[in-house]
Amino acid sequence: MLIVKDMCKEYPNDQGQVVRAAQHISFEVAQGKLFTLLGPSGCGKTTTLRSIAGLEKPSSGEIIVGGRVLYSSDRKIFIAPNQRDIGMVFQSYAIWPHMNVFENAAFPLRVGKVKYSKKQIEDKVLRALHAVALDGLESREATKLSGGQQQRLALARALVMEPQLLLLDEPLSNLDAKLRERMRFELKRLQRDLGITTIYVTHDQSEALALSNEIAVMKSGHIMQLGSPREIYEHP
Ligand code: ADP
Ligand code: ADP
Repeated sequence: MLIVKDMCKEYPNDQGQVVRAAQHISFEVAQGKLFTLLGPSGCGKTTTLRSIAGLEKPSSGEIIVGGRVLYSSDRKIFIAPNQRDIGMVFQSYAIWPHMNVFENAAFPLRVGKVKYSKKQIEDKVLRALHAVALDGLESREATKLSGGQQQRLALARALVMEPQLLLLDEPLSNLDAKLRERMRFELKRLQRDLGITTIYVTHDQSEALALSNEIAVMKSGHIMQLGSPREIYEHP
């Protein structure tokens, strides 16, 4: 479903030097699986995720989603982010405070290129809100939601477009420990129920072990280890 092949990303820094943020990153993710990029701050997780989303243009390599080449340095292909059919949730999930729950979730449908009817929007939004267990809260002001509910609303907003790939960058990091624990299992359930192929970024090993089908352990821009949670746990 997702193939990242020998992907490198370099940034120039303020001193005119080169920062090798991602180096020779290669991995494949099968349809419906949850794949985690695990590692400390600065190891290149976000860079890898943003490259898959098309928010960064890699320096070299190849990115293929569902058989479609989204980026290839050799073939000089770069598909723009809005043409990629990929949903994203960042750690700093931005809920629109002046909109209610329904309008927050409907937002991507309203600004997209495809024009949906009122009925289509309603169907899609209610389905997405149901998936994250926010049914009945459609008309609530977004700012009146709890942290966990806002988090789920951000997720619903990514799901509403029914992307073939979902990218989650530390989506639980702004929650307190108790809520994080609960959301962890809700996320897993949701991902399994919907069968959405998901790339998950975290620095939290226990989170990675609990959620993932497969884990890539990253350090200084490299993938150091690739394996199932069991393999990673037993041979750290
Ligand atoms: P994370 O919390 O995942 O480590 P950061 O807070 O390091 O992410 O980075 C947040 C944003 O700032 C990202 O879009 C990243 O590309 C950008 N960024 C990170 N480091 C630098 C840097 N040295 N110079 C410019 N932008 C950076
Ligand atoms: P992580 O998500 O694992 O915290 P990042 O991918 O955000 O790591 O960053 C990897 C490295 O690349 C870091 O050294 C970071 O400072 C650097 N970096 C990230 N984005 C930029 C940018 N826009 N400009 C310059 N350096 C960056």
